[in-house]
Amino acid sequence: MMTTRSLALPRPKPVRGPFSRLMRRPLAVAAASVLFVVIGACLMAPFLPIPGPNEINLVRSLAGPSPEHLLGTDQLGRDLLSRLLFGGIPSFGYAGIVLFVSLALGIPLGICAGYLGGWWDRAIATIADIGLAMPVLIMTIVILSVFDGLFWVAMALLGVLMCPPVIRNVRGAVIAVRHENFVDAARVAGLSPVRIMATHILARIVGPLLVQATLIAALGISFTVGLAFLGFGPQPPDPTWGGMIQDAVLVLSRSQWPMFVAGVVLAISVLALTVLGDTVREATVDPWTGVSRRRRKTEPSLPVEPGSALVAVRDLKVEYSAGGRDVLVVDGVSFDIGPGEAVGLVGESGCGKSTVARAIARILPAAGRTVGGGVRFRDQAVLDLEGKPLQSYRGGSVAYVFQDPMGTLEPSMRVGDLLAHIVRLNHRVSRAEAKARALELLRRVQIADAEVVGRRYPHELSGGLAQRVAIARAIAGEPALLIADEPTTALDASIRLGILDLLRSLQRETGMALLIVSHDWDVVDYLCDRAIVMYAGQITESGRLEDLLVNSAHPYTHALLECRPKADSDRSKPLPSIAGQVAAPGSHRAACRFSDRCPIAKPVCTQSHIPLVQVGVDQQSRCLFAEELYVAPVSVVLTERI
Ligand code: SF4
Repeated sequence: MMTTRSLALPRPKPVRGPFSRLMRRPLAVAAASVLFVVIGACLMAPFLPIPGPNEINLVRSLAGPSPEHLLGTDQLGRDLLSRLLFGGIPSFGYAGIVLFVSLALGIPLGICAGYLGGWWDRAIATIADIGLAMPVLIMTIVILSVFDGLFWVAMALLGVLMCPPVIRNVRGAVIAVRHENFVDAARVAGLSPVRIMATHILARIVGPLLVQATLIAALGISFTVGLAFLGFGPQPPDPTWGGMIQDAVLVLSRSQWPMFVAGVVLAISVLALTVLGDTVREATVDPWTGVSRRRRKTEPSLPVEPGSALVAVRDLKVEYSAGGRDVLVVDGVSFDIGPGEAVGLVGESGCGKSTVARAIARILPAAGRTVGGGVRFRDQAVLDLEGKPLQSYRGGSVAYVFQDPMGTLEPSMRVGDLLAHIVRLNHRVSRAEAKARALELLRRVQIADAEVVGRRYPHELSGGLAQRVAIARAIAGEPALLIADEPTTALDASIRLGILDLLRSLQRETGMALLIVSHDWDVVDYLCDRAIVMYAGQITESGRLEDLLVNSAHPYTHALLECRPKADSDRSKPLPSIAGQVAAPGSHRAACRFSDRCPIAKPVCTQSHIPLVQVGVDQQSRCLFAEELYVAPVSVVLTERI
């Protein structure tokens, strides 16, 4: 029976949100205050005790500031303050139309281009490039001549012309975050691309969007004023800022005051918007610098015959594009995972074990693609799944727990909301029921203060607590296979055992299969029935764990086990490591990829293909001397890690 532990909740670190960080910047506060005062005064103008904007008093033509006219008058004796405030309403209003249209078009198109990539990206980027080449001012004047009297229609079309920069910037921001772990986690949780884009991606790029919005608003005001100055838009005597500047130009030789007043208000409004944009940029993470990566079509998968295995991987080959060339990082990997079985994928970093796990979960990064082989999950050809079946496979059949729990939890959602969101994705339940199930999930991962944790944001959790939440999210869809990729590597030693206990008890309780990806034999020993050892993209040995631990038949497995810390190890000394490095993918020339590090290598080891051979009952080894090693394991020469 599962034991429930009460976990002491750590005091959350006082991490400030973007708004809080923004409000701590004096420039941001000043800019926001200026905008608030100017826009607020414009909106309140009809209710203020000031003369009407069109009240003419020729006796007071071009008068300076006075108690009756706080900012003086123009050449017709009209109150400048009143005309500024009433004239600000159309300036901000039309700028708002430009802003709304450009964002309403630019955000979805930019997100689609950045997230979906492929022909979506090419088509949208081409449209954006064509839009960027348009002379906006000339096009706007042409549009105004067509839509004479319908200034708001012209402003909406100006918004269309101004959306290409939004598309490009949003696309760049999305590319920068689309391969972050929390997006992968959302994909493997079974969320559709539309949901991921609308919730996870959009929430992550809100900072850059605010920057873009302030710049477009500033440009919109400048355009509106410029067009009014040229005689477009509301016609005299209705006040506009552009019209006021036009009037001021006519009397510039007699008085500079009207020009000064109109110019200063326009300048501080535009300046406040741009300063606010800059401070938003500084207060939020700046993810504008994304690297475009190629997404290419996956090769047709190898048919895998249905069998008793839950997952059958056959001759899997995965390639990555790097530095302009394609490199095979997983080369002909085959294995099965039975229902309820716990299997460990073991090896040093760079051996391809995480790539195999990601290929099974169908979350390879954009630079990677399967170029051969197949994966079957029950009766499904996994590599051929697309659309809804793929979404149901991820999350419903297979779930993934990543090494970095903090990076995989959606940063803008409270833990309870995030889990409820996943629950509703997998089950037709009401919001209230989903929230109740979210709390139940938190209790299932042995979080005693589920209500408190449910109200927290991921950044308010400790590493161990975040990993429990990540596991809760993974099991929300009741998967038949849970893949845990180095689930304890990023955690303190004191927390690791708790997470391993949790994974083991959940597996026993639910009967789900586990695929544990780890470089740590202790983790695999604790959780797994069987282990698969990988080296340089190939399986070098596999078998029941108890057989491998006492009777390994490959020098690499033996060397890895020798590096395992012993109970009596001197903790002050570095752990032993295997001499040499894993050869870079694509650089293997010898038949045995381990030959340059193998202490018993012979010339014959480098000459012809070395297959996996059966040794013992359920053990396979890719070594020419597997039989001899199975009988009498060799001592591998190890060097101390410097
Ligand atoms: S085939 Fe030769 S080089 Fe390769 S692991 Fe076996 S003994 Fe070592």
